[in-house]
Amino acid sequence: MTERRDHLHTRVLHAGAPAFDDGAAPVNAPLVRTSTVRFRDDAARVDLHHRREAGEAVATYGRHGTATHRALETALGELEGAEHVLLAPSGLAAISLTFIALLSPGDHVLVQDSVYGPVRERIEPLLTRLGVSFTYFSASAGLPERDVRAQTRLIYAESPSSFLYEVIDLPALAAFARQHGALLATDNTWGAGVLYRPLELGADISIQAITKYVGGHSDLMQGAVAVKDREVARRLRDTHEALGLSVGADDAWLALRGVRTLAVRLAQHQRHALEVAHYLADATDIVARVFYPALPDDPGHALWRRDFHGANGLVSFALRDASHADAVALVDALRLFAIGASWGGYESLALIAPAARLASQSFWRSGAPVVRLHVGLEDPRDLIDDLAQAFRRIAR
Ligand SMILES: *Cc1c(COP(=O)(O)O)cnc(C)c1O
Repeated sequence: MTERRDHLHTRVLHAGAPAFDDGAAPVNAPLVRTSTVRFRDDAARVDLHHRREAGEAVATYGRHGTATHRALETALGELEGAEHVLLAPSGLAAISLTFIALLSPGDHVLVQDSVYGPVRERIEPLLTRLGVSFTYFSASAGLPERDVRAQTRLIYAESPSSFLYEVIDLPALAAFARQHGALLATDNTWGAGVLYRPLELGADISIQAITKYVGGHSDLMQGAVAVKDREVARRLRDTHEALGLSVGADDAWLALRGVRTLAVRLAQHQRHALEVAHYLADATDIVARVFYPALPDDPGHALWRRDFHGANGLVSFALRDASHADAVALVDALRLFAIGASWGGYESLALIAPAARLASQSFWRSGAPVVRLHVGLEDPRDLIDDLAQAFRRIAR
């Protein structure tokens, strides 16, 4: 861990701390719930209104958020190395906001083919209806030279990708986007700002599902869009306003609490996930392949070492000579790993990767069933025992 990273954690821990009023202040930002904002006098109302119009993150109404939201935005800005952060009611809403704000009829968007499934299933139909065309590209097959068009305004990526953790050369893709006059947006839910800092690597927009590791306790839904550039932020803010996106103060407060312990939780998730990944890699009678970029034989390992600061609790594996029914029997036999979507909480989860989603990724072509684990903060020996007993049950 370099000195620069230690500085980051120090800044993230203290960002958004309340100022001293009357010589004292609480450690934590207050939880401020309100719909109406009161003004001392009309001049104050007009002043705040103008500052808001000029792009400052100040509130003239509850929908714009309160001191709680400002503290969270400040902390997330440190985490992502961003000047501007917009909060959204879910990770998917943060992604939709980005597409709707930055694309107009006639525009074209290039999307990595291994992105989070709902981008393809939900956002593509909406944006197609609004006159935007989509092309999917394989991030492992080099730069999308053949697919870029004069109308390409946005390139959308996710590294490591959903389910199989395809790691992409983000700096190269950022240079390519700049060369073609397109913005580069990337989903940073996996890296969460601690493990990966896309804005430092050249991306224009970094999006997180706060729901996952920042929240960290499986008790809130939220998203965030982080940007450096003022003009891109203005376009996002205009659309954010038009859509009336708003996050409850309670959820903003919980997310800020999560930010403070994010780095230490992620370090523990990585430690446990590595133990589980090594166990899986040795279970060659059941497991055909393990997907985890921190393993030296993972195809994304070299890029991961170059661009990332660690790994998280997500480990997937393909079953050897197995049917979908075998995968169902396996996850049903697990006792400690709950079957569930989402991830990033303290608890361990298992999910069979939907075959249709795997089929749309060019990164790995195989019909073998894949199970995604989220390795939680339980004792890893218990997690490995759980996997071992489930493997014994499905062994033939
Ligand atoms: C979960 C997830 C999202 C969506 O977040 P929600 O808060 O569930 O809407 C987006 N991207 C990735 C990579 C995710 O895993």
